[in-house]
Amino acid sequence: MGTYNIHAGHCPHGQGAGGAVGYLKESIEDRAVKNLLIANLKSQGNTVYDCTDDTNCTVRQNLQRIVAKCNAHSVEKDVSIHLNAGGGTGVEVWIVNPAMESAAAKICAEVAKSIGIRNRGVKYSNNLYVLNHTKAPALLIECCFVDNQTDYNQWNVQKCADAITNALTGHKMSGTTATWVKDNIGWWYRYTDGSYPKAQWVELDTWYYFNAKGYALADEWLYYKNKWYYLKKDCRMAVGWQQIDGYWYYLGSDGVMLDGWQQIKGKWYYLDQEGEERPHGAMVTGEMKDGNHTYYLQDNGAMAKGWIKRKGSWYYYNEDNNCQPIGSMMRNHWQGGYYLKDDGRMASGEVLEIGGEKCEFDADGKVKK
Ligand SMILES: [Zn+2]
Repeated sequence: MGTYNIHAGHCPHGQGAGGAVGYLKESIEDRAVKNLLIANLKSQGNTVYDCTDDTNCTVRQNLQRIVAKCNAHSVEKDVSIHLNAGGGTGVEVWIVNPAMESAAAKICAEVAKSIGIRNRGVKYSNNLYVLNHTKAPALLIECCFVDNQTDYNQWNVQKCADAITNALTGHKMSGTTATWVKDNIGWWYRYTDGSYPKAQWVELDTWYYFNAKGYALADEWLYYKNKWYYLKKDCRMAVGWQQIDGYWYYLGSDGVMLDGWQQIKGKWYYLDQEGEERPHGAMVTGEMKDGNHTYYLQDNGAMAKGWIKRKGSWYYYNEDNNCQPIGSMMRNHWQGGYYLKDDGRMASGEVLEIGGEKCEFDADGKVKK
């Protein structure tokens, strides 16, 4: 397997030393080709370093930063992606090292054939900074002309990246295996025939959802057939507990977001059903009223049962189903010799009249005889 430094030339479009602009914008197209080329090479098992400089700076700084990134790695080849300008048409590859001539010639031929533009061939120059300063031999590809109508009509980022890959590695990108591809917008999945899934779920190592344009949703909720799903940062469908924007949610093994009371691993949780106080599906903590009863959901969301001390008072949450639901707060109720008042707090250090009888409670809640 090979090792490569790949970079797109110039600063990002609209910043510092941007590239050529015509029908196409060089700094946008070269980065798109660069991204697909890197994805292709990685999918074939090669080691690839992205040496693009995306800072806002001068031409000189941009070139020096690219070279510094390239020279931080030991590789077989440095590949610089550019688009040409000045009224010509076709693809050309610049080199300074004759050892790169056959690779450069292959790239020219593959790109010209694949995109359907003129092959301008290999060119030598002693004046290109990147070619003169990288440790590994370098190739500078001028993929096409941004200001030429024919080149613009024929231009295809994917075909260009595939053609460069094929020329560099000798392994055909089309007709190999289906593969993930990342471009400037996001991840998409390419089948061997070049087609890709859109507006659908696809099961690969797990489930993914592709939008109408074919990009996998990432870090995003999806409302699908009246149910909520969440696609994580890595595009995989979330299952189980998931913390999103500060709230906890629970997604079933089928990815569906659950709500209401849910028993999970033996404990009860309440996941918001209304979406008023907090988002729909968000795990509730603290005291909560449901119907005629009050429940207490601990900091980890699990419903409290039995004696719980909070804010300086003891409360008792029902542990069995005899008189009221499990977990509901007991009120106006004797529990094991202690008395729970109307607000649920255990009586202590006070005298109360209960059922017509005076009861005096000590500081621990025990009845004084
Ligand atoms: Zn350029």
